[in-house]
Amino acid sequence: MFDELNDLYQQVILDHCKQPRNFHEMPAATRSAQGHNPLCGDQLKLFLALDGDTIGDISFVGSGCCISKASASLLTEFAKGKTKADVEKMFARVHEMVTTGNVQGDVGKLAVFAGVHKFPARVKCAILAWHAVMAALKGDAKPVTTESES
Ligand code: ZN
Repeated sequence: MFDELNDLYQQVILDHCKQPRNFHEMPAATRSAQGHNPLCGDQLKLFLALDGDTIGDISFVGSGCCISKASASLLTEFAKGKTKADVEKMFARVHEMVTTGNVQGDVGKLAVFAGVHKFPARVKCAILAWHAVMAALKGDAKPVTTESES
């Protein structure tokens, strides 16, 4: 199943898993949210520093499988400097991509997760950080769990 493209995607995921970007706590955060995926044991906490509707800074900490860490890392890279609306739009694209494999519009580097739909057990790992960022943007204080998703 690993053709050249998948191989490249795998390398990006491994790179972000081993050296996650923006992996630190943020004392100056204006919002934070926790995500938990009990099926896999992934746990993460996301920090946002909002400047109006724009994400001025974003970081995360946590532990989990390679997919969940790489997904959170790539999410923080994407979301920095973006608006709430940009992130909501991308959440919809990523959700569609990891559940069905359909890539709609430009998803940039996040395309590395397009293959995840072939592994249903991994879908929640890939989407966890996205649920957390949506909760943080909404200002939900309650931790999000992938189990609340039907
Ligand atoms: Zn996982």
